[in-house]
Amino acid sequence: MTAEEEVKPLKIAIIGGGLVGAFAAVTLSRLPNVSVTAYEKSDKVREVGAAITLTEGGLVTLEQVFDLDELEKILYRTPNNGHITRRHWKTGEYLKEPHSKSPKYPKYNHAKAQRVLLLDFILKHVPEGTIKYGQEVKSVNVRQDGVAIHFANGNVTKADLVIAADGIYSKIRRQFTNDAIVYKGAVAYRNVFDDKIVEHIPGLPDDVTVWIGKGSAMFMTRLTPGKFNVAAHLRDPPEVAANLRWNKTTGDWGKKRLIEHFKDWDPLIGQIVEVMPESIAFPLERAPWLENLVVGDRIAFVGDAAHPTSGVYGAGANMGFDDVWALYRSLLETKYNLKKALFLFNETRAPFLKRVEKQIEIDQQIGAKYIGTAETDEEWKRRVEHRGLSAKWITDHSVDNEFEQVRDQNFLQLFVDE
Ligand SMILES: Cc1cc2nc3c(=O)[nH]c(=O)nc-3n(C[C@H](O)[C@H](O)[C@H](O)COP(=O)(O)OP(=O)(O)OC[C@H]3O[C@@H](n4cnc5c(N)ncnc54)[C@H](O)[C@@H]3O)c2cc1C
Repeated sequence: MTAEEEVKPLKIAIIGGGLVGAFAAVTLSRLPNVSVTAYEKSDKVREVGAAITLTEGGLVTLEQVFDLDELEKILYRTPNNGHITRRHWKTGEYLKEPHSKSPKYPKYNHAKAQRVLLLDFILKHVPEGTIKYGQEVKSVNVRQDGVAIHFANGNVTKADLVIAADGIYSKIRRQFTNDAIVYKGAVAYRNVFDDKIVEHIPGLPDDVTVWIGKGSAMFMTRLTPGKFNVAAHLRDPPEVAANLRWNKTTGDWGKKRLIEHFKDWDPLIGQIVEVMPESIAFPLERAPWLENLVVGDRIAFVGDAAHPTSGVYGAGANMGFDDVWALYRSLLETKYNLKKALFLFNETRAPFLKRVEKQIEIDQQIGAKYIGTAETDEEWKRRVEHRGLSAKWITDHSVDNEFEQVRDQNFLQLFVDE
């Protein structure tokens, strides 16, 4: 019996065609006997010129679906096996690295990619015609026999299963929760430009480097091919943050803001900021994460729609890829019994995500009660080094192991005691 004959046809609708929605479109299309359509509100998805980390966990997941040798062409690999180099904000001295073991296979070392190139890479693998652009979903309505999807243009369609991948401001999530998006208190200034612009500056780092300051940080990395990335996180008042958009450059104002902020920092930063082009800037925001990623055995939330926080240990999109992979395995394992599949999916992802959300809260407290209260620079440095923060339990998380544990522990309930 072929896989197609074993399972009933399943109609899947994905809402959103960003990094995670596009990955879902590739991955879920590989299931037998499915029809997959992704609805994206923009006419074309535009990723911003910025860098994205691919973590060990993320690369292991991407390898399930893509040829890593092909992906490798758009990745930047650092000389120090992907570790982040931490430096003192003012003196530029190297801070002690937290103990952090490299993965067994170098191909899983953390790598950097340009977001635009990563999205293009994923989209190249989506079966033609799967993503319908210019289709804004207004709401969904779960019924006994499926989900009705209502579009802003008045059209309605139906699917057996809806994957909500509509990002941090998810309309679908807000249909089922009363959460509000709040400003985290920091703005991200981001820039990707030709490395030729800064190549002449002595001491330009080849590693992913972060200068840690008191309440702000400057990240830099090279990118493939021939690009350089600068990303600063600065505490800006809410009224300033409210006027910034990720798809708009800051013009002269942003450059002046960066030059002024970094004037007393390691002089290398100032030299780079001085010559680089205009940045984009946008507020970092968050809303409470979903406790339950599933609605009515018909809707599954993935990516930022499920865990809405911008900037989570450089792992937000990677966690979204893992959501999709957990869903793929759950559907396959249960032969499209949606109640069982979404139970498996939720049990695989929700407890892990809960622990990550808790860690974000704890790290805020560590910042406020411990690092932020150091009275001297020497003591501040000691506390930063003591805290370390490798976040490896998050970035190296194996969604396959978690899925298999959940499946094995619920095997009787799912497959025997029916
Ligand atoms: C400063 C910063 C740095 C980051 N760095 C990293 C990193 O290094 N590594 C990492 O893994 N992650 C990183 N992230 C997180 C990562 O960017 C997100 O987790 C990821 O982009 C989420 O992808 P998504 O597809 O879930 O959402 P999005 O990319 O927001 O895509 C959602 C899509 O849904 C569409 N949409 C929305 N509403 C509707 C609707 N009603 N109907 C139809 N379509 C709709 C939107 O147009 C959009 O295309 C970072 C984030 C920030 C802000």
